[in-house]
Amino acid sequence: MTGADSVYPFGLAPVPGRRRRIAVIAGDGIGPEVVEQALRVVGPLGVPLEIQHFPWSANHYLQTQETLPKGALIELRDQFDAIFFGALGDPRVPDGVVARDVLLGLRFGLDLYINLRPVQLLDEKLCPVKGKSRRDVNFWVLRENTEGPYVQMGGSFKRDTPDEVAISEDLNTRRGVERIIRAAYTLAKVPHGSSHDTPRVCMVDKANALPHAHGLWQRAFREVAAEHRDVQSSHLFVDVAAMEFVRTPERFDAVVTSNLFGDILTDLGAAICGGLGVAASGNIHPGRCSLFEPVHGSAPDIAGKGLANPLAAFLTLAMLYDHLGEGRAAERLRRAVEHVVLAGQVTRDVGGTLSTAECGDAVLRVLTSPTSN
Ligand code: ATP
Repeated sequence: MTGADSVYPFGLAPVPGRRRRIAVIAGDGIGPEVVEQALRVVGPLGVPLEIQHFPWSANHYLQTQETLPKGALIELRDQFDAIFFGALGDPRVPDGVVARDVLLGLRFGLDLYINLRPVQLLDEKLCPVKGKSRRDVNFWVLRENTEGPYVQMGGSFKRDTPDEVAISEDLNTRRGVERIIRAAYTLAKVPHGSSHDTPRVCMVDKANALPHAHGLWQRAFREVAAEHRDVQSSHLFVDVAAMEFVRTPERFDAVVTSNLFGDILTDLGAAICGGLGVAASGNIHPGRCSLFEPVHGSAPDIAGKGLANPLAAFLTLAMLYDHLGEGRAAERLRRAVEHVVLAGQVTRDVGGTLSTAECGDAVLRVLTSPTSN
């Protein structure tokens, strides 16, 4: 969330007197590099957390053939409050089996149906679109996270022949569509420094080309919208939405869309905020153990070189604090990130000269300075 008056609506119920338990899956490539930096601020932020690391990654898989072990889902769901995730993906692992089993396994298995991706500009100079201010680029994308083509229904026939046929099903359920749309209305009503007097929800689909699946989205949207007369509801086809993300991002508060379109649109959302190095996300089931990860992947091209921008991981950790009900810590962390961005104490992908660890040092310095509270 942004702004001191914001109240994150999807968080956990308070549990006085118990330390929150956080599972960390650092993963592959730049995942462990950015997670290491982000975890440095846990102490200074002053919220006692019990942190447990899990080894699931390409290296672990190559040594043990294990991806997400049996029982892990139940352990995470019942014994942890949140999961802090780096990235998975390694060219040595065929077909991305680890990423599929672990990340998709957790999204589906924990029913983390809201993929919440803020599109919030930290500093005008990071925006490649001329003349857009922080106030203009300040919205959320809620991507449906448990359906669509990602359920991997389908198959292929006559594989590797000239007659090959391949089918991927796009699964959309009334229940799944309705609950993500409802989440968008809940979030749109949270104050976040928007310039609109009336909160806005925009639903993005492609019902003109996909009348069955996205006809369902349109019908569900119309019904839910009718219950929220205090919100301005609109609809865009995904091709137009892509254009509007660049042309008039100021028109949006909450954008709700399908799994596949959300995946694509949020990379564009990241691009108008400075790129994948500053894009955070949460995979959320309201009130339950949820998973927080930077939008970027494992980026093998820059892994091990000190080039990875850790700010997406810091902003992701801030979302995790929101989920724990620790809005003040989340806000402090976000302000520290804003501070280093404004001061240009950043990595090369966003115009600086610092290494991953030096950027982490800069965030830590802000948080531990006597004026930070
Ligand atoms: P995935 O398939 O999971 O999306 P990927 O490695 O194909 O993973 P990303 O990791 O998302 O793609 O990144 C695409 C490119 O963006 C990387 O190759 C890298 O150059 C750049 N990039 C991504 N994350 C960062 C970061 N944190 N800091 C700097 N550059 C980054």
